[in-house]
Amino acid sequence: MQKLYDAVIIGAGPAGVSCAIWLKRLGFEPLLLEASDQVGGLSARNPFYDLWTPTLSGRTGIDIARDMASQLEASGAEVWLNSSVKTVVKNAECPSQNQTQARPSFVVSVQHEGRLIDIDARTVVVATGVKPRQLQPGASASWPDVIIGPGEQIMQQDFAGKYVALLGGGDNAFENYEFAKTNGAKQAHIYARSIRAQKQFVSRVSASDVHIGPYLVDPTTKTVNGSAYDLLIVLYGWEAQANFATHLALEHNAKGFIATEHDTAQTSQVGVYAIGEVAQRMHPCIVTAFADGVVAAKAIEARLADS
Ligand SMILES: Cc1cc2nc3c(=O)[nH]c(=O)nc-3n(C[C@H](O)[C@H](O)[C@H](O)COP(=O)(O)OP(=O)(O)OC[C@H]3O[C@@H](n4cnc5c(N)ncnc54)[C@H](O)[C@@H]3O)c2cc1C
Repeated sequence: MQKLYDAVIIGAGPAGVSCAIWLKRLGFEPLLLEASDQVGGLSARNPFYDLWTPTLSGRTGIDIARDMASQLEASGAEVWLNSSVKTVVKNAECPSQNQTQARPSFVVSVQHEGRLIDIDARTVVVATGVKPRQLQPGASASWPDVIIGPGEQIMQQDFAGKYVALLGGGDNAFENYEFAKTNGAKQAHIYARSIRAQKQFVSRVSASDVHIGPYLVDPTTKTVNGSAYDLLIVLYGWEAQANFATHLALEHNAKGFIATEHDTAQTSQVGVYAIGEVAQRMHPCIVTAFADGVVAAKAIEARLADS
């Protein structure tokens, strides 16, 4: 008979790893699925020192991701890397482990070693983080020299002598303005409907380079309000990355993240939990993601004890 996991946790960033470790140590059988080839999520791609976490002095995001991987291994929790979840569906017909009573349960379909595998789960934890918001809501088109979202693609960009427009009013727009200028951009302009960035970043940018209010972008001609640029950088923040959960029809909050109950991290679908940045229940960082993992693990413990 196919194995029934107590929880299938999707995403091995800090939130998912914490949840898997706690569930395993609480005596349950979780399975942690990760699309990439490593544990750690965004922190595994962060080469900078973590200046936010009090106990991690002198450690980079990459170091922290390595620590997570070794703690996870020590816990004995089952982990599948290179395993991208494609769908999660509710399976009301799926029997409970003791076979005496039908329980709401789930089937998680995952692409693993070249084939699609269905996994049975008593509960599901969505911990898949976020993706950058597109230029137009819902669209996923791409254009030459239009960069969507922060990260490596900006770091690797050759800015020398270029006219650059940064779209968005958050920290990322202001930090990357500085990055573009320091790396040789001839001109950089920020276009923002309103400013949300920290004052420390805003104060370092020349006011004449910031346009506040409505603006019109044409990504095909790379123009903003009629001015032409060599490069457009779209920094519109983040949205939940959980297309695989469409069939569950999870409710989202006003900011577009998966809505959850405060005390349990449970979503609008009983038995499905959402933690870390995908739900953005607290300010996103490593410790809040860890904490979220604990909340979900304890809620699952309570739920499974009742069933
Ligand atoms: C450059 C940078 C620097 C940062 N610096 C700090 C810092 O110094 N201190 C700090 O506290 N925070 C920092 N952060 C923020 C911190 O990294 C995030 O808040 C944290 O990683 C969020 O954890 P998470 O588990 O919610 O999501 P993520 O870390 O995004 O992990 C989500 C995981 O889900 C996986 N996934 C997605 N879709 C699927 C799927 N369909 N199937 C299977 N797996 C999937 C992804 O591959 C990923 O591994 C930084 C972030 C960045 C980008």
